[in-house]
Amino acid sequence: MYSKMKDHLCKTLAEIKEAGLYKQERLIESPQKANIIVKGKEVLNFCANNYLGLSDNARIIEAAKKALDSRGYGMSSVRFICGTQDIHKVLEKEIADYFQTEDTILYAACFDANGGVFEPLLTEEDAIISDSLNHASIIDGVRLCKAKRYRYANADMAELEKCLQEAQQQRFRIIVTDGVFSMDGNVAPMDQICDLADKYDALVMVDESHSAGVVGPTGHGVSELYKTYGRVDIYTGTLGKAFGGALGGFTTGRKEIIDLLRQRSRPYLFSNSLAPSIVGASIEVFRMLKESNELHDKLVENVNYFRDKMLEAGFDIKPTQSAICAVMLYDAKLSQDYAAKMLEEGIYVTGFYYPVVPKDQARIRVQISAGHNKADLDKCIEAFIKVGKELEVLK
Ligand SMILES: *Cc1c(COP(=O)(O)O)cnc(C)c1O
Repeated sequence: MYSKMKDHLCKTLAEIKEAGLYKQERLIESPQKANIIVKGKEVLNFCANNYLGLSDNARIIEAAKKALDSRGYGMSSVRFICGTQDIHKVLEKEIADYFQTEDTILYAACFDANGGVFEPLLTEEDAIISDSLNHASIIDGVRLCKAKRYRYANADMAELEKCLQEAQQQRFRIIVTDGVFSMDGNVAPMDQICDLADKYDALVMVDESHSAGVVGPTGHGVSELYKTYGRVDIYTGTLGKAFGGALGGFTTGRKEIIDLLRQRSRPYLFSNSLAPSIVGASIEVFRMLKESNELHDKLVENVNYFRDKMLEAGFDIKPTQSAICAVMLYDAKLSQDYAAKMLEEGIYVTGFYYPVVPKDQARIRVQISAGHNKADLDKCIEAFIKVGKELEVLK
C-alpha cells in the first residue's frame, strides 16, 4: 500500500516546493535569545516570541533546575489519575492572579487549551462568533464542537454586530478573538467587543498568546489595556511566548467553566501533565513579573524606539499596538530576498507572503524583545536601511 501513497506524497511535496512554500528549518546552535548562533555565525534574532527576553533568563533556569531536583523529571500521568503535584496548583493560582480571574486549568500547549475549550461548553443549540484572523488552534477547536459558526472580518465591529443579531435564536453565544493578531500586531478592540456582548447577551473569550506580557500599561494583556476586567469570561494563553517560552498553555476565567473543563476537556483528560521543571520555572516567571515591571518597560521602550526610527527612515510599518512590527513590502519575492539579505547583515527576520498574509500584502515581521539592547536595535535598523536602498525599497 505504502508505495502508492509514497508517490502521492512525493507529488504533494514537489508541489509545495514549486509554489515556494516549502518550510526549511534553520538550525540554532545556542540558547534562544537576542544573539543566537546560526551555522557557526552570531546573528541578532528578531523573529522569536521571546517578548520579555525570558527564554534564557538565569533566574528562570535556576527555578527549572530546582523543580527538577525537588519534584523530578516527568509526571507519567494525566492530571486526574496521578499527575497533579502541589506546584501545578500553585501555577494555576499564579496565572489566575495575573489575569484577575477565578481559576485556571493547565494544558500541554495553548493549542490544546483552544482545542479543548468549546466542545465541553457548547452544543448545536449554541453559537460561536469568531474573528476571521483567529489562530489555527481556535479554528480547530471550533471544528471539534457542534455549535453554529459565525465569522466576522478582522476586528470589524459592524460585522460582529450582524453576526450577534443573526445568532439571537441560539441558546448561548460566545464571541472569540485573538488578543493581538500575529501578522499585523493589532489588538482586538475588547471594550467594543464587551459592549456588543452585553447588548446581545454573549460570552467573551480572548486568546492572549501574543498579548499577555505585552499589551496594557504593565503588560497584563487586553483587559488591562481596555479595562475589561470582569467582562471577559474566558482567557486562553501560552507559556511558550512572553512567559518563558518553554511549553504549556492555560485557560483561565470563571470558576464553573474551569471546573467543567477539568471534567470534560479532552486534551486535559487524555494528555500528560506539564513537566515539573516547566511548572517550577513558570511559577518563577509570574513571581518575577509581580516584583517588578522592568522587563515590560524595556519592551515598550524598545518597540517605540524601533518603530519611530523605522518610520523616520521612510519604511511603511503597520500601526502596531504590540511587540510585532510589520514592515510592508507588498511583494512576495521581495520579502524573501529582503530577509535573505538581512541575514547576510547578521539580522534574522522572516518574510511572510500569501497565503499566510493576504495577496499583495507581503511583509517582514519584526518581533521586538526586552532582551534586545539599543545597539541590537540600531544594528537591525541600519541593516533594514542598507538592504532597503539596495533593493530600492527606500530612495
Ligand atoms: C502561539 C499561539 C498559540 C499556540 O500556543 P502553543 O502554546 O505554542 O500551542 C495559540 N494561539 C495563539 C493566538 C498563538 O499565537
